[in-house]
Amino acid sequence: MSEEKLSFQAEVSRLLDIVAHSLYSEKEVFLRELISNASDACDKLRYASLTQPELTAGDATFRITLTPDTAARTLTIADNGIGMNRDDLVENLGTIARSGTANFMAALSQKAEAKKDGEKDVSLIGQFGVGFYSAFMVAGEVEVYSRKAGETQGWRWTSDGKGSFTVGESDDAPARGSRIVLHLRDGEDDYLQTYRLQSIVKKYSDHISIPVLVGDDEKPANAASALWTRPKSEITAEQYKEFYHHVGHAFDDPWLTLHWRAEGVLEYTNLLFIPEAKPFDLFEPERKHRVKLYVRRVFITEGPEGLIPAYLRFLRGVVDSEDLPLNVSREMLQHNPMLAKMRTGIAKRVLGDLARKADDADSKADYARFWENFGAVLKEGLYEEREQRDTLLKLLRAYSTHGGTNGDELVSLEDYVGRMKPGQDAIYYITGEDKAALARSPHLEGFRAKGVEVLFLTDAVDEFWLQSVTQYKDHAFKSVTRGGADLANVTAEDKNDETPKAPEDSVADLVALAKLTLGDAVKDVRTSERLRESAVCLVADEGDMDIHLERMLKAHRR
Ligand code: ADP
Ligand code: MG
Repeated sequence: MSEEKLSFQAEVSRLLDIVAHSLYSEKEVFLRELISNASDACDKLRYASLTQPELTAGDATFRITLTPDTAARTLTIADNGIGMNRDDLVENLGTIARSGTANFMAALSQKAEAKKDGEKDVSLIGQFGVGFYSAFMVAGEVEVYSRKAGETQGWRWTSDGKGSFTVGESDDAPARGSRIVLHLRDGEDDYLQTYRLQSIVKKYSDHISIPVLVGDDEKPANAASALWTRPKSEITAEQYKEFYHHVGHAFDDPWLTLHWRAEGVLEYTNLLFIPEAKPFDLFEPERKHRVKLYVRRVFITEGPEGLIPAYLRFLRGVVDSEDLPLNVSREMLQHNPMLAKMRTGIAKRVLGDLARKADDADSKADYARFWENFGAVLKEGLYEEREQRDTLLKLLRAYSTHGGTNGDELVSLEDYVGRMKPGQDAIYYITGEDKAALARSPHLEGFRAKGVEVLFLTDAVDEFWLQSVTQYKDHAFKSVTRGGADLANVTAEDKNDETPKAPEDSVADLVALAKLTLGDAVKDVRTSERLRESAVCLVADEGDMDIHLERMLKAHRR
C-alpha cells in the first residue's frame, strides 16, 4: 500500500529532539496526555452523533483501553472516538505549525535556567497543545492506526521522531477511532506492568468521564464519572487539581476552585478555577475564554461566546447545563437567552467569591497575587459591564503614595477614601507605565506636601475605564496631571507648608513672558499650588485628554 514520507516542521523537529532526550523524571505524564486526547476524541464524537446518530451506530459505548505487550515491548492506547483520516493525521500530528510549539520551547528554556539542561520540565507540554509528542519520551517509535467515524478508509501514521513521519492507507486500523502503539525505549519496561499503569491512570486521569481499562481487567482504573457531578465532599484537592490541569491545559495549581450547582429557573453545575499563574494567551486580541460547555454531561464546545464575560476570561473549567437543548448548534448558542442568564449567574458568583477573598484581612497577600495576575483583565469589566461596576470597584487595588513614596502596598478605594484629608473631595491618581517613574513626577509635589494620597494607575486599561467610571461613592476620580486637580480647599498636613505666596505682580510678569515665548505650543500658562521643588510642569486642561493617554495614542499612531 502506498505510503508518503513527510517532514515535520523545523520547530516540531527541535521540540521532538528535546522531548526524546529529556531526563525529566516524571515521564509517566505521557500517559496523561494520550488519555486526555483519547477522551477528547470520544467527546468530539459524542457531540457529532447528536446530529448524526449513525456515526456511533453499533458501538455507542465509549471506552479507552491500555494494552501492554511484554513480548513485543509495546504499550497500546486505543479509543473508539472520532478518529483521524489522512489529512487529520498530517495536520494534527505533523506538518502544520502549531502555535504552541514556540511558546512551549520558550517556557522550557525559561524554566530550565534554574535546572540542568536535561531535566527540563517536559510536563508543561500539554499546556501548549503539543501533548501528543510527549509519547517520544518513552517510545523510540510511535504508530497511530486510525479510522475516522463515518469513513471507510483506515490510516497508519508512524514516526521515530527524527525529523520525519510517514502516513499511508491501512487495513489494520480499528473500526472506529485511534490505536496508538508505543514501541518502548530500553529501560521503560515499567509501562508494561498492569498495576503500574493502573496507578498512573488513578493519579492523573481519575476525573476522565470515559472508562479507562487496563490489560484484561474489566473494572475501569478510573472513577469514570464526570468529576463535577460528584459531591464536593468526595473530591480531594488532588483530584480537583488534576482535573484543572486536564480541562485548563494548565500545570500550575488553581488559585481558587469554585464548585457549585445553580438551581432555580435554570439548573447548571459549575466547576471553575482561577489559575495561580497567568496563562500565556491572556492578552490575545480575541479575548476568548476557555471554559467548556456541557449539556447534561455531553461536551458541546469550548469557549462559547456569551457564557463567560471577557473580563473573566482567566477562568478555566466546566459549565454543565441541564436545560439547554442537546442539539443546540454552536452557532446559535450565543443568541440563546439561557446562556445570557447563566453568564449573569456565573459572573455574580465569581465576583462574590472574589469579594470575600478581597475583604478577608487574612488573605491580603493572597489576593494581591491574584490582582497582580488578573487585575488588568478585571478592570475591563468596569467599562463593559455596568451592573457589576460597584462590585468591581470594591475589588480594585492599586499602588499609591501611601505608606512611603515608592508605593509598595496595594490599596483599595475604601482604604483611600478613609484616608482623605479634610476638604478633599476627589480621588487623585496619576497614570503611566512605570510606578517608580510616576513616584518621581513633579505633579505629586503639592499632594505630598499636603499629605494627599495619589493612586498609581499603571495598566493601559486604566485610561479606558477612567473615561466611563467617573466616581466612587460620590468622589470623582481626578488626574493630578490635569488643570482641575486643585488643592486649594485641602487643609495642609503641616501648617508650615502652606504655599508661600509670591508677590502677585512679579508672577504676572513671569506668566506673561512665558505665554509670549511659548506661543501656540501651549494652551495656557498659570500659577498653581501643585508644585514645591519644581518650577514648572505640564498639565492637561480639564476637558482635554489626559497627558498619558495622549502619549499612548500618539505612540499607537506611529
Ligand atoms: P491538544 O490535545 O492540546 O490539541 P495534542 O498534541 O495532544 O494537542 O494533540 C494534537 C491533536 O491531535 C489533537 O488536537 C487532536 O486533533 C489530534 N489527536 C490526538 N490524539 C487523538 C486521538 N486519540 N483521536 C483523535 N484525534 C487525536
Ligand atoms: Mg492533548
